[in-house]
Amino acid sequence: MECVECEAYPYDDVDRGVSHPFSSARKGGGFVLCRNSFSPLRGCSFARSCYNQSAVAGEHSLNNKKGGLPPPPLSFAQHAMCAWCLNENMFSRSSIRRGKSLARISRIGIGGSAFSYVRVATVSDLMEAVIWYGAHRAEYKKNPLMVIGDATNVLFSDAPVSNFIIHNQASEIIPLSKDALWIGSGTQMNRVVDYCVTHARAGLSWAAGLPGTIGGAVYGNAGAFGGQMDQCIAGVVSLEKEGGVFVLRYRNAQACLFGYRTSIFKQRALRGAPMVIVAVVLNAFHTHAVADEQKAVRDHRRYRRTRHPVTARTLGSTFQNVPVEEIPVQIRAELADRIKQDPFPVVPAAVLLDRAGCKRLHVGGASFSAQHANFIVASGKTTARDVKKLCRQAHLRVQRRFGVALVLEIITQG
Ligand SMILES: Cc1cc2nc3c(=O)[nH]c(=O)nc-3n(C[C@H](O)[C@H](O)[C@H](O)COP(=O)(O)OP(=O)(O)OC[C@H]3O[C@@H](n4cnc5c(N)ncnc54)[C@H](O)[C@@H]3O)c2cc1C
Repeated sequence: MECVECEAYPYDDVDRGVSHPFSSARKGGGFVLCRNSFSPLRGCSFARSCYNQSAVAGEHSLNNKKGGLPPPPLSFAQHAMCAWCLNENMFSRSSIRRGKSLARISRIGIGGSAFSYVRVATVSDLMEAVIWYGAHRAEYKKNPLMVIGDATNVLFSDAPVSNFIIHNQASEIIPLSKDALWIGSGTQMNRVVDYCVTHARAGLSWAAGLPGTIGGAVYGNAGAFGGQMDQCIAGVVSLEKEGGVFVLRYRNAQACLFGYRTSIFKQRALRGAPMVIVAVVLNAFHTHAVADEQKAVRDHRRYRRTRHPVTARTLGSTFQNVPVEEIPVQIRAELADRIKQDPFPVVPAAVLLDRAGCKRLHVGGASFSAQHANFIVASGKTTARDVKKLCRQAHLRVQRRFGVALVLEIITQG
Protein backbone atom coordinates (compact mmCIF):
# COMPACT_ATOMS: atom_id res chain seq x y z
CA MET A 1 0.00 0.00 0.00
CA GLU A 2 1.38 3.42 -0.92
CA CYS A 3 1.10 6.86 0.50
CA VAL A 4 -1.73 8.65 -1.29
CA GLU A 5 0.34 11.78 -1.83
CA CYS A 6 3.87 10.74 -2.64
CA GLU A 7 2.79 7.38 -4.08
CA ALA A 8 6.20 6.09 -3.28
CA TYR A 9 6.57 5.14 0.28
CA PRO A 10 5.01 1.82 1.21
CA TYR A 11 3.04 1.52 4.41
CA ASP A 12 5.00 -1.28 5.91
CA ASP A 13 2.78 -1.09 8.99
CA VAL A 14 0.48 -3.31 6.96
CA ASP A 15 3.26 -5.86 6.62
CA ARG A 16 3.69 -5.79 10.36
CA GLY A 17 0.05 -6.70 10.82
CA VAL A 18 -1.10 -3.32 12.07
CA SER A 19 -4.04 -2.06 10.09
CA HIS A 20 -3.34 1.44 8.86
CA PRO A 21 -6.18 3.86 9.53
CA PHE A 22 -5.82 5.59 6.18
CA SER A 23 -9.29 4.92 4.85
CA SER A 24 -11.19 6.02 7.95
CA ALA A 25 -9.08 9.16 8.28
CA ARG A 26 -9.89 10.09 4.72
CA LYS A 27 -13.64 9.64 5.17
CA GLY A 28 -13.63 11.83 8.27
CA GLY A 29 -11.62 14.62 6.67
CA GLY A 30 -8.54 14.04 8.78
CA PHE A 31 -5.10 13.74 7.31
CA VAL A 32 -2.89 10.83 6.45
CA LEU A 33 0.82 10.46 6.53
CA CYS A 34 3.39 8.35 4.93
CA ARG A 35 6.38 7.25 6.87
CA ASN A 36 8.70 10.05 5.84
CA SER A 37 6.27 12.87 5.88
CA PHE A 38 2.57 13.63 5.98
CA SER A 39 0.00 14.81 3.54
CA PRO A 40 -3.21 16.70 4.03
CA LEU A 41 -6.61 15.86 2.73
CA ARG A 42 -9.39 18.17 1.74
CA GLY A 43 -11.42 19.98 4.38
CA CYS A 44 -8.72 20.55 6.95
CA SER A 45 -7.06 23.92 6.76
CA PHE A 46 -4.56 23.13 9.46
CA ALA A 47 -3.48 20.02 7.64
CA ARG A 48 -3.10 22.07 4.49
CA SER A 49 -0.84 24.43 6.34
CA CYS A 50 1.15 21.45 7.59
CA TYR A 51 1.68 20.65 3.99
CA ASN A 52 3.45 23.93 3.43
CA GLN A 53 5.74 23.18 6.30
CA SER A 54 6.65 19.80 4.90
CA ALA A 55 7.70 21.56 1.73
CA VAL A 56 9.68 24.12 3.73
CA ALA A 57 11.39 21.37 5.64
CA GLY A 58 12.18 19.64 2.37
CA GLU A 59 10.72 16.47 3.70
CA HIS A 60 8.22 15.72 1.02
CA SER A 61 8.65 15.40 -2.69
CA LEU A 62 5.43 17.24 -3.48
CA ASN A 63 6.00 20.89 -2.70
CA ASN A 64 4.53 24.20 -3.79
CA LYS A 65 1.09 22.65 -3.81
CA LYS A 66 -0.79 25.03 -1.57
CA GLY A 67 0.00 28.47 -0.28
CA GLY A 68 -1.20 31.33 1.84
CA LEU A 69 -1.58 29.57 5.17
CA PRO A 70 0.77 30.02 8.07
CA PRO A 71 3.30 27.25 8.50
CA PRO A 72 2.85 25.02 11.54
CA PRO A 73 5.79 24.25 13.78
CA LEU A 74 8.30 21.83 12.41
CA SER A 75 7.79 19.73 15.51
CA PHE A 76 4.33 18.90 14.23
CA ALA A 77 5.90 16.97 11.38
CA GLN A 78 7.87 14.96 13.90
CA HIS A 79 4.82 14.35 16.04
CA ALA A 80 2.81 13.34 13.05
CA MET A 81 5.37 10.83 11.95
CA CYS A 82 5.46 9.33 15.39
CA ALA A 83 1.74 8.83 15.38
CA TRP A 84 1.81 6.75 12.31
CA CYS A 85 4.99 4.81 12.56
CA LEU A 86 3.61 2.67 15.35
CA ASN A 87 7.17 1.81 16.12
CA GLU A 88 7.52 -0.25 19.27
CA ASN A 89 10.87 1.31 20.07
CA MET A 90 9.49 4.80 20.49
CA PHE A 91 7.88 4.04 23.82
CA SER A 92 9.63 2.08 26.48
CA ARG A 93 7.58 -0.26 28.64
CA SER A 94 9.94 0.56 31.49
CA SER A 95 8.40 4.05 31.75
CA ILE A 96 5.15 2.52 33.04
CA ARG A 97 4.87 2.62 36.82
CA ARG A 98 2.64 0.32 38.85
CA GLY A 99 0.85 1.42 42.00
CA LYS A 100 1.57 5.15 41.74
CA SER A 101 -0.35 7.03 44.44
CA LEU A 102 -2.95 9.25 42.77
CA ALA A 103 -3.43 11.18 46.01
CA ARG A 104 0.02 12.62 45.40
CA ILE A 105 -1.00 13.90 41.98
CA SER A 106 -4.57 15.03 42.54
CA ARG A 107 -5.01 18.64 43.58
CA ILE A 108 -7.36 17.59 46.38
CA GLY A 109 -4.88 15.00 47.65
CA ILE A 110 -7.28 12.06 47.42
CA GLY A 111 -7.01 8.81 45.50
CA GLY A 112 -5.91 5.19 45.57
CA SER A 113 -3.08 3.75 43.52
CA ALA A 114 -3.03 3.57 39.72
CA PHE A 115 -2.78 0.20 38.00
CA SER A 116 -0.51 1.76 35.36
CA TYR A 117 0.89 5.26 35.31
CA VAL A 118 3.03 7.05 32.77
CA ARG A 119 4.15 10.67 32.89
CA VAL A 120 4.84 12.36 29.57
CA ALA A 121 6.67 15.66 29.12
CA THR A 122 6.39 16.32 25.36
CA VAL A 123 3.71 16.07 22.70
CA SER A 124 5.72 13.32 20.96
CA ASP A 125 5.93 11.34 24.21
CA LEU A 126 2.19 11.72 24.70
CA MET A 127 1.42 10.45 21.23
CA GLU A 128 3.86 7.60 21.48
CA ALA A 129 2.42 6.47 24.81
CA VAL A 130 -1.14 6.54 23.41
CA ILE A 131 -0.17 4.70 20.23
CA TRP A 132 1.73 2.13 22.28
CA TYR A 133 -1.30 1.63 24.53
CA GLY A 134 -3.50 1.18 21.44
CA ALA A 135 -1.13 -1.40 20.00
CA HIS A 136 -1.24 -3.36 23.30
CA ARG A 137 -4.97 -3.17 23.76
CA ALA A 138 -5.32 -6.91 24.29
CA GLU A 139 -2.98 -6.76 27.27
CA TYR A 140 -4.80 -3.72 28.73
CA LYS A 141 -8.39 -4.59 27.89
CA LYS A 142 -9.41 -4.24 31.55
CA ASN A 143 -7.52 -0.96 31.93
CA PRO A 144 -9.21 1.87 30.04
CA LEU A 145 -7.03 4.76 28.98
CA MET A 146 -7.31 7.99 30.95
CA VAL A 147 -5.24 11.06 30.17
CA ILE A 148 -5.05 13.61 32.97
CA GLY A 149 -3.49 17.05 33.10
CA ASP A 150 -2.90 18.60 36.53
CA ALA A 151 -5.78 16.63 38.11
CA THR A 152 -7.29 19.86 39.44
CA ASN A 153 -10.78 18.66 38.53
CA VAL A 154 -10.68 14.88 39.11
CA LEU A 155 -11.78 13.05 42.23
CA PHE A 156 -10.13 9.62 42.14
CA SER A 157 -11.65 6.79 44.18
CA ASP A 158 -10.05 5.62 47.40
CA ALA A 159 -9.69 2.11 45.99
CA PRO A 160 -7.01 1.25 43.40
CA VAL A 161 -7.88 2.75 40.02
CA SER A 162 -7.78 0.24 37.17
CA ASN A 163 -7.08 2.78 34.40
CA PHE A 164 -3.94 3.11 32.32
CA ILE A 165 -3.22 6.68 33.36
CA ILE A 166 -1.16 9.05 31.24
CA HIS A 167 -0.16 12.12 33.22
CA ASN A 168 0.16 14.74 30.52
CA GLN A 169 2.73 17.46 31.00
CA ALA A 170 3.39 17.93 27.28
CA SER A 171 4.15 21.60 27.43
CA GLU A 172 4.92 23.66 24.34
CA ILE A 173 3.79 26.97 22.86
CA ILE A 174 4.62 27.71 19.24
CA PRO A 175 3.33 30.71 17.28
CA LEU A 176 1.68 29.66 14.02
CA SER A 177 0.85 33.16 12.84
CA LYS A 178 0.15 36.57 14.33
CA ASP A 179 -3.33 35.31 15.18
CA ALA A 180 -2.80 31.69 16.18
CA LEU A 181 -0.74 29.63 18.63
CA TRP A 182 -0.04 25.91 18.71
CA ILE A 183 -0.19 24.68 22.31
CA GLY A 184 0.79 21.24 23.58
CA SER A 185 -2.17 19.89 25.55
CA GLY A 186 -0.19 19.51 28.78
CA THR A 187 0.73 23.21 28.90
CA GLN A 188 -0.57 24.97 31.99
CA MET A 189 -3.20 27.61 31.25
CA ASN A 190 -1.32 30.14 33.34
CA ARG A 191 1.78 29.66 31.21
CA VAL A 192 -0.32 30.28 28.10
CA VAL A 193 -1.82 33.42 29.66
CA ASP A 194 1.65 34.71 30.57
CA TYR A 195 2.92 33.95 27.06
CA CYS A 196 0.02 35.91 25.52
CA VAL A 197 0.63 38.94 27.70
CA THR A 198 4.38 38.91 27.06
CA HIS A 199 3.93 38.51 23.30
CA ALA A 200 1.11 41.06 22.86
CA ARG A 201 -1.61 38.50 22.17
CA ALA A 202 -5.19 39.11 23.27
CA GLY A 203 -8.14 36.87 24.07
CA LEU A 204 -7.09 34.78 27.05
CA SER A 205 -7.01 37.20 29.98
CA TRP A 206 -10.22 35.65 31.36
CA ALA A 207 -8.22 32.48 32.08
CA ALA A 208 -5.69 34.18 34.35
CA GLY A 209 -5.38 32.11 37.51
CA LEU A 210 -7.27 29.12 36.07
CA PRO A 211 -5.48 26.03 37.41
CA GLY A 212 -4.74 23.05 35.20
CA THR A 213 -3.66 22.37 31.64
CA ILE A 214 -5.14 23.52 28.35
CA GLY A 215 -6.10 19.89 27.58
CA GLY A 216 -8.21 19.75 30.74
CA ALA A 217 -9.69 23.17 29.97
CA VAL A 218 -10.73 22.08 26.46
CA TYR A 219 -12.19 18.81 27.77
CA GLY A 220 -14.51 20.63 30.19
CA ASN A 221 -14.81 23.88 28.20
CA ALA A 222 -13.55 25.74 31.25
CA GLY A 223 -14.68 29.29 31.78
CA ALA A 224 -14.43 32.24 34.12
CA PHE A 225 -15.11 36.00 34.19
CA GLY A 226 -17.46 35.73 31.20
CA GLY A 227 -14.90 33.93 29.03
CA GLN A 228 -14.88 30.31 27.94
CA MET A 229 -12.47 28.03 26.08
CA ASP A 230 -14.74 27.67 23.05
CA GLN A 231 -14.45 31.42 22.37
CA CYS A 232 -10.73 31.23 21.74
CA ILE A 233 -10.20 27.91 20.00
CA ALA A 234 -9.48 27.57 16.29
CA GLY A 235 -9.15 23.80 16.46
CA VAL A 236 -8.04 20.75 18.41
CA VAL A 237 -5.72 17.94 17.37
CA SER A 238 -6.64 14.65 19.01
CA LEU A 239 -5.91 10.97 18.88
CA GLU A 240 -8.99 8.80 18.81
CA LYS A 241 -9.75 5.18 18.26
CA GLU A 242 -11.10 4.08 14.92
CA GLY A 243 -11.23 0.46 13.90
CA GLY A 244 -8.98 -0.54 16.78
CA VAL A 245 -6.15 1.95 16.16
CA PHE A 246 -5.63 5.54 17.23
CA VAL A 247 -6.15 8.06 14.44
CA LEU A 248 -4.86 11.61 14.47
CA ARG A 249 -7.59 14.12 13.75
CA TYR A 250 -8.02 17.86 13.57
CA ARG A 251 -11.37 19.42 14.47
CA ASN A 252 -12.33 23.04 14.15
CA ALA A 253 -14.08 24.62 17.14
CA GLN A 254 -17.55 23.92 15.79
CA ALA A 255 -16.78 20.23 15.42
CA CYS A 256 -15.63 20.08 19.06
CA LEU A 257 -19.34 20.36 20.07
CA PHE A 258 -18.62 22.68 22.96
CA GLY A 259 -21.40 23.34 25.42
CA TYR A 260 -21.61 24.51 29.00
CA ARG A 261 -18.64 22.73 30.70
CA THR A 262 -18.66 20.07 28.02
CA SER A 263 -17.15 19.12 24.67
CA ILE A 264 -17.07 16.19 22.29
CA PHE A 265 -14.03 14.96 24.24
CA LYS A 266 -15.99 14.80 27.48
CA GLN A 267 -19.10 13.36 25.85
CA ARG A 268 -17.12 10.56 24.20
CA ALA A 269 -15.27 9.79 27.45
CA LEU A 270 -18.58 9.49 29.28
CA ARG A 271 -19.66 7.00 26.61
CA GLY A 272 -16.50 4.94 27.25
CA ALA A 273 -14.65 6.02 24.09
CA PRO A 274 -12.00 8.47 25.30
CA MET A 275 -10.18 10.74 22.89
CA VAL A 276 -6.80 12.19 23.69
CA ILE A 277 -6.35 15.91 23.20
CA VAL A 278 -2.86 16.27 21.78
CA ALA A 279 -2.60 19.95 20.96
CA VAL A 280 -4.77 23.01 20.66
CA VAL A 281 -4.67 25.72 18.01
CA LEU A 282 -5.61 28.86 19.87
CA ASN A 283 -6.90 32.14 18.46
CA ALA A 284 -4.66 34.66 20.15
CA PHE A 285 -4.81 37.86 18.17
CA HIS A 286 -2.01 40.37 18.08
CA THR A 287 -2.96 43.42 20.14
CA HIS A 288 -1.65 46.92 20.71
CA ALA A 289 -3.61 47.19 23.98
CA VAL A 290 -1.09 45.17 25.98
CA ALA A 291 -1.54 47.32 29.09
CA ASP A 292 -5.28 46.48 29.14
CA GLU A 293 -4.51 42.77 28.84
CA GLN A 294 -1.96 42.98 31.65
CA LYS A 295 -4.42 44.79 33.87
CA ALA A 296 -7.17 42.22 33.21
CA VAL A 297 -4.76 39.38 34.01
CA ARG A 298 -3.65 41.07 37.26
CA ASP A 299 -7.26 41.80 38.29
CA HIS A 300 -8.45 38.26 37.65
CA ARG A 301 -5.54 36.73 39.56
CA ARG A 302 -6.10 39.11 42.46
CA TYR A 303 -9.81 38.29 42.51
CA ARG A 304 -9.04 34.56 42.72
CA ARG A 305 -6.45 35.07 45.46
CA THR A 306 -8.90 37.01 47.60
CA ARG A 307 -12.16 35.15 46.85
CA HIS A 308 -11.10 31.51 46.30
CA PRO A 309 -9.33 29.10 48.66
CA VAL A 310 -6.42 28.94 46.20
CA THR A 311 -3.99 27.23 48.55
CA ALA A 312 -6.50 24.66 49.86
CA ARG A 313 -6.93 21.05 48.74
CA THR A 314 -9.89 21.52 46.40
CA LEU A 315 -11.14 20.76 42.89
CA GLY A 316 -12.70 24.17 42.30
CA SER A 317 -16.43 24.44 41.68
CA THR A 318 -18.14 21.25 42.80
CA PHE A 319 -21.39 21.86 40.93
CA GLN A 320 -22.14 23.64 37.66
CA ASN A 321 -23.88 26.98 37.73
CA VAL A 322 -27.54 26.71 36.77
CA PRO A 323 -28.86 28.27 33.54
CA VAL A 324 -31.67 30.66 34.44
CA GLU A 325 -34.24 28.79 32.37
CA GLU A 326 -33.68 25.70 34.57
CA ILE A 327 -34.65 27.61 37.72
CA PRO A 328 -38.34 27.03 38.58
CA VAL A 329 -40.35 30.12 37.58
CA GLN A 330 -41.80 30.65 41.09
CA ILE A 331 -38.35 31.23 42.66
CA ARG A 332 -36.69 33.21 39.85
CA ALA A 333 -37.71 36.52 41.44
CA GLU A 334 -36.02 35.52 44.73
CA LEU A 335 -32.75 34.91 42.85
CA ALA A 336 -33.05 37.72 40.31
CA ASP A 337 -30.35 39.88 41.90
CA ARG A 338 -27.83 36.99 41.83
CA ILE A 339 -27.99 36.19 38.12
CA LYS A 340 -24.62 36.54 36.35
CA GLN A 341 -23.26 36.01 32.84
CA ASP A 342 -21.21 32.76 32.60
CA PRO A 343 -21.12 33.53 29.64
CA PHE A 344 -24.92 33.26 29.43
CA PRO A 345 -27.32 34.06 32.32
CA VAL A 346 -26.90 31.62 35.22
CA VAL A 347 -27.59 31.45 38.91
CA PRO A 348 -24.30 30.52 40.60
CA ALA A 349 -24.44 27.15 42.32
CA ALA A 350 -22.65 28.86 45.23
CA VAL A 351 -25.73 31.04 45.84
CA LEU A 352 -28.05 28.02 45.93
CA LEU A 353 -25.70 26.07 48.21
CA ASP A 354 -25.27 29.03 50.51
CA ARG A 355 -28.98 29.76 50.81
CA ALA A 356 -29.71 26.07 51.37
CA GLY A 357 -27.37 26.14 54.38
CA CYS A 358 -24.68 23.86 52.94
CA LYS A 359 -21.81 25.89 54.42
CA ARG A 360 -22.48 24.16 57.71
CA LEU A 361 -22.24 20.66 56.24
CA HIS A 362 -19.17 18.50 56.56
CA VAL A 363 -18.37 14.80 56.20
CA GLY A 364 -15.09 13.55 57.65
CA GLY A 365 -12.47 16.07 56.56
CA ALA A 366 -14.58 17.38 53.65
CA SER A 367 -16.49 20.63 54.00
CA PHE A 368 -17.60 23.59 51.91
CA SER A 369 -15.12 26.44 51.93
CA ALA A 370 -15.94 29.50 54.01
CA GLN A 371 -14.46 31.58 51.16
CA HIS A 372 -16.48 30.05 48.30
CA ALA A 373 -19.69 28.13 48.95
CA ASN A 374 -19.26 25.91 45.85
CA PHE A 375 -15.70 24.75 46.63
CA ILE A 376 -15.28 21.60 48.71
CA VAL A 377 -12.03 21.64 50.66
CA ALA A 378 -10.32 18.63 52.18
CA SER A 379 -8.28 18.42 55.33
CA GLY A 380 -6.37 15.60 56.99
CA LYS A 381 -7.38 12.13 55.93
CA THR A 382 -10.39 13.03 53.79
CA THR A 383 -11.55 10.24 51.49
CA ALA A 384 -13.32 10.28 48.14
CA ARG A 385 -16.24 8.66 49.96
CA ASP A 386 -16.46 11.67 52.29
CA VAL A 387 -16.49 14.09 49.34
CA LYS A 388 -19.14 12.11 47.45
CA LYS A 389 -21.34 11.86 50.55
CA LEU A 390 -21.05 15.60 51.12
CA CYS A 391 -22.01 16.20 47.46
CA ARG A 392 -25.10 14.00 47.88
CA GLN A 393 -26.18 15.86 51.04
CA ALA A 394 -25.74 19.26 49.38
CA HIS A 395 -27.56 18.11 46.24
CA LEU A 396 -30.50 16.98 48.36
CA ARG A 397 -30.68 20.22 50.34
CA VAL A 398 -30.69 22.37 47.19
CA GLN A 399 -33.29 20.16 45.56
CA ARG A 400 -35.56 20.39 48.61
CA ARG A 401 -35.13 24.15 48.98
CA PHE A 402 -35.23 25.27 45.32
CA GLY A 403 -36.41 22.27 43.27
CA VAL A 404 -33.14 22.45 41.31
CA ALA A 405 -31.08 19.31 40.58
CA LEU A 406 -27.46 20.46 40.68
CA VAL A 407 -25.07 18.82 38.20
CA LEU A 408 -21.57 17.84 39.32
CA GLU A 409 -18.77 19.82 37.67
CA ILE A 410 -15.94 17.81 39.23
CA ILE A 411 -15.13 14.54 37.51
CA THR A 412 -15.28 11.36 39.56
CA GLN A 413 -13.11 8.44 38.47
CA GLY A 414 -12.94 4.84 39.64
C1 LIG B 1 -8.85 26.54 42.86
C2 LIG B 1 -9.52 26.09 41.59
C3 LIG B 1 -10.22 27.02 40.82
C4 LIG B 1 -10.86 26.62 39.64
N1 LIG B 1 -11.53 27.55 38.89
C5 LIG B 1 -12.14 27.17 37.76
C6 LIG B 1 -12.85 28.13 36.96
O1 LIG B 1 -12.89 29.31 37.26
N2 LIG B 1 -13.46 27.69 35.83
C7 LIG B 1 -13.43 26.39 35.45
O2 LIG B 1 -14.00 26.05 34.40
N3 LIG B 1 -12.77 25.45 36.17
C8 LIG B 1 -12.13 25.81 37.31
N4 LIG B 1 -11.45 24.88 38.05
C9 LIG B 1 -11.43 23.48 37.62
C10 LIG B 1 -10.17 23.10 36.79
O3 LIG B 1 -9.13 23.97 37.06
C11 LIG B 1 -10.43 23.15 35.31
O4 LIG B 1 -11.46 22.30 34.99
C12 LIG B 1 -9.18 22.77 34.51
O5 LIG B 1 -9.39 23.14 33.18
C13 LIG B 1 -8.82 21.28 34.58
O6 LIG B 1 -7.53 21.08 34.00
P1 LIG B 1 -6.62 19.86 34.45
O7 LIG B 1 -5.42 19.83 33.59
O8 LIG B 1 -6.35 19.91 35.90
O9 LIG B 1 -7.55 18.64 34.11
P2 LIG B 1 -7.72 17.24 34.94
O10 LIG B 1 -8.31 17.60 36.25
O11 LIG B 1 -6.38 16.60 34.96
O12 LIG B 1 -8.68 16.50 34.03
C14 LIG B 1 -10.03 16.90 33.91
C15 LIG B 1 -10.70 15.98 32.86
O13 LIG B 1 -10.15 16.28 31.59
C16 LIG B 1 -9.64 15.10 30.99
N5 LIG B 1 -8.41 15.47 30.29
C17 LIG B 1 -7.40 16.24 30.74
N6 LIG B 1 -6.46 16.38 29.81
C18 LIG B 1 -6.85 15.66 28.74
C19 LIG B 1 -6.29 15.38 27.46
N7 LIG B 1 -5.12 15.88 27.07
N8 LIG B 1 -7.00 14.60 26.60
C20 LIG B 1 -8.19 14.08 26.97
N9 LIG B 1 -8.78 14.29 28.17
C21 LIG B 1 -8.12 15.08 29.05
C22 LIG B 1 -9.33 14.15 32.15
O14 LIG B 1 -9.40 12.80 31.73
C23 LIG B 1 -10.46 14.50 33.12
O15 LIG B 1 -11.62 13.77 32.81
C24 LIG B 1 -10.80 25.27 39.22
C25 LIG B 1 -10.08 24.34 40.00
C26 LIG B 1 -9.44 24.75 41.16
C27 LIG B 1 -8.67 23.74 41.97
